[in-house]
Amino acid sequence: MKPVASPSTQLSLFGERASPRLSKSRYAAGVQCHKLLWWKVHEPRALELQPDKVLQDRFDQGAQVGGLARGRFPGGVLIDLPYNAFAERLQATRAALDATEPVIFEASFVADDTYVAIDVLERLERGFRLIEVKSSSSQKEEHIPDAAVQAHVARRNGVDVRSVEILHLNKAFRFPDQGDLFARTDVTPAVEQLLPGIPVQLAAHLDMLRGPLPDVPIGLHCFTPRDCPFLARCWPQAPDHIMKLYNVGPKKACDYMLTGVHTIGQIPPKQKLPDAAQRQIRALQENRLIVEPRLKAALEPFTGRLGFLDFETISRAVPVWPGMAPWEQAAAQFSYHEAREDGTYRHVSYLAEGPQDARPPLARAMLEATADAERVVMYTPFERTRIRSLQVAVPELANDLKALEDKLIDLHPVIRDHVYHPDFQGSFSLKYVLHPLVPELTYNDLVIVDGLVASVEIARLLFVAQRIPPEERDRVRQDLLDYCERDTWAMVKLLERLRELVAAT
Ligand code: SF4
Repeated sequence: MKPVASPSTQLSLFGERASPRLSKSRYAAGVQCHKLLWWKVHEPRALELQPDKVLQDRFDQGAQVGGLARGRFPGGVLIDLPYNAFAERLQATRAALDATEPVIFEASFVADDTYVAIDVLERLERGFRLIEVKSSSSQKEEHIPDAAVQAHVARRNGVDVRSVEILHLNKAFRFPDQGDLFARTDVTPAVEQLLPGIPVQLAAHLDMLRGPLPDVPIGLHCFTPRDCPFLARCWPQAPDHIMKLYNVGPKKACDYMLTGVHTIGQIPPKQKLPDAAQRQIRALQENRLIVEPRLKAALEPFTGRLGFLDFETISRAVPVWPGMAPWEQAAAQFSYHEAREDGTYRHVSYLAEGPQDARPPLARAMLEATADAERVVMYTPFERTRIRSLQVAVPELANDLKALEDKLIDLHPVIRDHVYHPDFQGSFSLKYVLHPLVPELTYNDLVIVDGLVASVEIARLLFVAQRIPPEERDRVRQDLLDYCERDTWAMVKLLERLRELVAAT
């Protein structure tokens, strides 16, 4: 190992500041966009940067995966100090290196005003292996710069990094013990390729941070490798902005913008577009609800004794129930409305309780609730996918679940292919179509209004209930029940509204 500056000398390089200016996450932010990095550093308390429940859950799951990954290296030494105790962490790392520890977790280094804590630093016969732990179920492109900046800083500290690996979850693993939970991908060549450019990038980041907010135009980088938290600050929010075109996506929207098309109205008339996008253009031009005459025929299959079904799911990095893969979604809640002959509706709901496998009791409750329905209405094929998964997870009910699957009928394409209201904003998700079509009904009065939040809250109730005060537990349970019920009631009211639209034509 080459001689390196002592930790206290390294920290004195930061002048008056007590901490280095960059970290690996700030480096990655700067690679995505200088404006994003500037805000992260100069406006760390910005609302957009505060982790919401979903992001916090992602962090918590990442920490769980990190802990399990450490278990694969028995005898490893953890630099177990607060993240911002920089000098102490550098000192402890240096001590562990001097003691020739075979494996160091969270080995911490600073160079070029950049601080990194390496998940696993493994001593090899010659040199070291740097291992970055990720909770994703595959190695992704965005992991390379992340690992490369760590390798750069470690090498600048005299650590001879010979090999770089990403230790990620293995999508072939099945709970409880089928296969290995982790898979390793060697990324050394890709990291080596990036390394020569890193000092220049770090210098550019630091230089930019010394100046005012940089003027960075919006573009595809706002969504790559992940959606920037400042999208609402930088992107126009006008209802006719090209990003609001149905099914456009960031890539096509940016292509339009490069040709000078920034609003839906500027799209050349001869441009080939999906029917729904053409209907959207007409609705915006005429500022009215468009209803296709074919809607009547599309509604014909929605007859007989109708039920309306919606699931909420859990999705855990480390699977929790038999046969589940990392991040696999599993149904843990449903809401069901069924039309009675007198025009009223009965409602049945199920929400799992406790950490045990919820799928068998959920499947039984759902089959019982839907037994009399002739058709069961869903919104998007999500419910079909979940029922198919249940056929595998609860094989003793597979035949009955298949029969239920055969009753499913999707309301989403009926709206997408026949109706457009200017307020849909290019989306046909329930949250976007409900209020424009059924003005008396919204999600605004609910605490939970989003499937991702619902998923995180269900997981919290099932797996860490003991850490939640009982009154909060009851409240969250009720919030979840209200949210799922609203989804099926929304389908009921949407179908009623569509029938009214047909009757009015
Ligand atoms: S929205 Fe785009 S331009 Fe604005 S900070 Fe984010 S990445 Fe940069």
